[in-house]
Amino acid sequence: MDKLTVRDVDVQGKRVFVRVDFNVPLADGKVTDDSRIRASLATITHLMNGGARVILASHLGRPDGKVQDGLRLRPVAERLSQLLGRNVPVTGDALGVGTEDALKRLRAGETLLLENLRFHAEEERNDPAFAETLASYADVYVNDAFGAAHRAHASTVGIAKLLPAYAGLLMEREIAALSGLLDNPAHPFAAIVGGAKVSGKIKVLDNLLTKVDVLVLGGGMANTFLLAQGKTVGKSLAEHDRIDDARRLLEAAEKRNVRVILPVDVIVAKEVTRGTEYKTLPAEKIPASWHIVDIGKQTQTLMEAALEGVRTVVWNGPLGVFEIPSFARGTNELARLLAAKADDGATVVVGGGDSVAAVQQQGLASRMTHISTGGGASLEFLEGRELPGIAVLLDRDGGDDGEGGGDRKPAGDRAAEADTARPRRTRTQSASKGRA
Ligand code: ADP
Ligand code: MG
Repeated sequence: MDKLTVRDVDVQGKRVFVRVDFNVPLADGKVTDDSRIRASLATITHLMNGGARVILASHLGRPDGKVQDGLRLRPVAERLSQLLGRNVPVTGDALGVGTEDALKRLRAGETLLLENLRFHAEEERNDPAFAETLASYADVYVNDAFGAAHRAHASTVGIAKLLPAYAGLLMEREIAALSGLLDNPAHPFAAIVGGAKVSGKIKVLDNLLTKVDVLVLGGGMANTFLLAQGKTVGKSLAEHDRIDDARRLLEAAEKRNVRVILPVDVIVAKEVTRGTEYKTLPAEKIPASWHIVDIGKQTQTLMEAALEGVRTVVWNGPLGVFEIPSFARGTNELARLLAAKADDGATVVVGGGDSVAAVQQQGLASRMTHISTGGGASLEFLEGRELPGIAVLLDRDGGDDGEGGGDRKPAGDRAAEADTARPRRTRTQSASKGRA
């Protein structure tokens, strides 16, 4: 990877501001899924062991610039303290004298968590004064919040322009896994894209079509492709204003010799609810009053055959309404198939909140090569865009893009290695696409 990471900086005694993504689900004042906290433990312990004074900061939910007691980070601090085996205090506010006092008391090797950044509207506005205050807390900035890297906020971009800015270990892993898919995937390479709507995934499909050998389409978004093929989909979720996009994508796939798998049979239901009547039908014959809710067995067989021997797979979006057990089979079978492929040495990357939830529900997460912690961020990355929160981190060969970070230098003993006069070697994700 060409971004400097926490491994490239001596943090002994330094104050290190770490943007983490602790945007976890809560119920009754308890964290119900701590995966995102666990995902940043490697970075936090690395810094603590290196003698840093660690200042963690995150958003939680959407308080829209106001204090909401239900979105305080105390439950997160409690869970983090348990996981680290040491007490991590949380401030009552990201700003103010309470935080300043806590920062003064913070010793080398200790960790402090700031209160929810989004209690201040300045965070999402990327307010310069707010970013400056956050930067005043620290000597070094680390971004481990891949899930927030597609947002140009004060804690992801503003502050990173004011301090020497490094990638955390989770951020490093995310970039390595996702750029590996775009830059030099082992072939055959398959993308499986499902989920609710095609509208949010058109740019991802456009980019992936320039890379993959096989494209499997399922879930609600496949319905718009069925319409593009002249089929009817009854009352199924579909986007009539995206039929032209779907048609264009199918043509692009054909031109590039990408094999496209669309449902040939589907499960249809009277209603999209539990306990409703349902049956399997050929995708040609969807009656006007039914909803497509999952792929059928023939489609699954077709998909398995198309994925035979693949060496790289990226999966985003469930193949059906997997929240309802009767309509989860296609998604669950796919998760099992991909876990087996990863066991056999294929690179399998899963991104997207719901797809990841489906994998975790079946206890298959640890068998996949990489499970992305970023939903929106991983999609934007796969579109081939450079995410603002990544762009702003220091490049390994010390270039600077001149975006206001001109006097920013790598911290500590590596400063000498960074030759700021050299041109920035940007990892252009499109550089290696020319397989067509
Ligand atoms: P991810 O979070 O993995 O990126 P999305 O958010 O795009 O995935 O889509 C997930 C949602 O898509 C789920 O809530 C699922 O119920 C829904 N979905 C999948 N297939 C269908 C379908 N045939 N009809 C309606 N909704 C569907
Ligand atoms: Mg989702």
